[in-house]
Amino acid sequence: MSDYDADAAEELAERVRSGDRRLYELEDYADADTAAATRRRLVEEHSGADLETTADYSLPAGQAAESNIENMIGAAQIPMGVAGPVTVNGGAYEGETYLPLATTEGALLASVNRGCSVIDDSGGAEVRVTKRGMTRAPVFRVSGIAEAEALAEWARDNVEQLRATAESTTSHGTLLDVTPYVVADSVHLRFRYDTADAMGMNMATIATREAAEVVEDETDASLVALSGNMCTDKKPAAINAVEGRGRSVTAEVSIPREAVESTLKTSPEAISEVNTRKNLLGSAKAASLGFNAQAANVVAAMYLATGQDAAQVVEGSNGIVSMEAREDGLYGAISLSSIEVGTVGGGTKLPTQAEGLDILGIRGSGDPAGENGDALAECVAVGALAGELSLLSALASRHLSSAHAELGR
Ligand code: NAP
Repeated sequence: MSDYDADAAEELAERVRSGDRRLYELEDYADADTAAATRRRLVEEHSGADLETTADYSLPAGQAAESNIENMIGAAQIPMGVAGPVTVNGGAYEGETYLPLATTEGALLASVNRGCSVIDDSGGAEVRVTKRGMTRAPVFRVSGIAEAEALAEWARDNVEQLRATAESTTSHGTLLDVTPYVVADSVHLRFRYDTADAMGMNMATIATREAAEVVEDETDASLVALSGNMCTDKKPAAINAVEGRGRSVTAEVSIPREAVESTLKTSPEAISEVNTRKNLLGSAKAASLGFNAQAANVVAAMYLATGQDAAQVVEGSNGIVSMEAREDGLYGAISLSSIEVGTVGGGTKLPTQAEGLDILGIRGSGDPAGENGDALAECVAVGALAGELSLLSALASRHLSSAHAELGR
């Protein structure tokens, strides 16, 4: 249970009740634990809920209230487990590791664990980050299409000036390119950055804000919104599936036929057929952006365990799965277009999330910078591949419902 000053909490609560203080400003008048206790008291009165376990947290409330949350009342605990160990033969990550996953979905870790086991028995997964780039795309108003064309041309001709301005705000971020998109009298400039080990959304936003001022100073365009939704952050969008956002990463494995039969209890041909008819044809017919079975499950659980921004699971689940029966076994791969992860900044500083990164051995800055961010994306991709192998083979051998029943769900 967190330590707080009960008398001060009651006094502050009374001030909120009387309208003298607002719920969001309590950290200005008390330490963060006492502020959280005050809010719990008021919320308990209002709702009739008992927040005893919400109060039972070990994270530093002051640190969380500073950069991770407002109106804090405590912490929501999510069970964390591991799958593996699994061997990751990556461009940035090399070695055998447990994968940390936080979830409330029973059967998920068992499923990923089975996939990890067959990957490991096959010598591990080969995995590479093939593209990097965090994007922010402000939208500008112009007078019409002639001015839109001029702005698009200006942006192409003046990337160096935009780069110098954007990069003056950060010591780790580099501007890769600026791509203009015109819609009538709106011009969206999509800025793409290498953000090293940071997921980079704050970094890219701060840098783009400065660059947008240059656009306004040097052209007739007016900034309407710093994000014009061509970024695209936390919304399903084909641009992320096609162009990638954050890190585009592919993991692959070749599994001997005997391992498919003994561990996955099916055949390469049956897995390949399920993948084709479900992940490829079914997803195409549904016009889905996720040509996979359960990538979001693994992406979400690893994001929660390692302090990532959970809302970015939206684009994190854009992934195409390949499963091909070959003479000697099964070739399996997943290509995730938009894995937006970091090992610095955001939620990665919180204690359990930092420990999640420690399980992988990649907390903080990489050497060189960017290596840890790549390594985390590679680990997520291997986890997602494990989840696909396990679920597709469960479907292929038709024992999905019995696995859930056996695990009591
Ligand atoms: P951040 O915590 O705001 O910034 C990361 C910081 O780490 C940078 O200031 C960078 O400094 C520093 N840094 C130190 N070592 C680094 C290294 N090796 N590689 C890269 N940076 C290093 O985090 P962020 O990743 O930019 O943004 C993530 C946060 O943004 C999350 O909390 C997320 O929830 C939130 N978010 C924001 C928006 C938005 O629109 N603003 C949208 C979605 C999510 P320098 O820049 O000085 O180099």
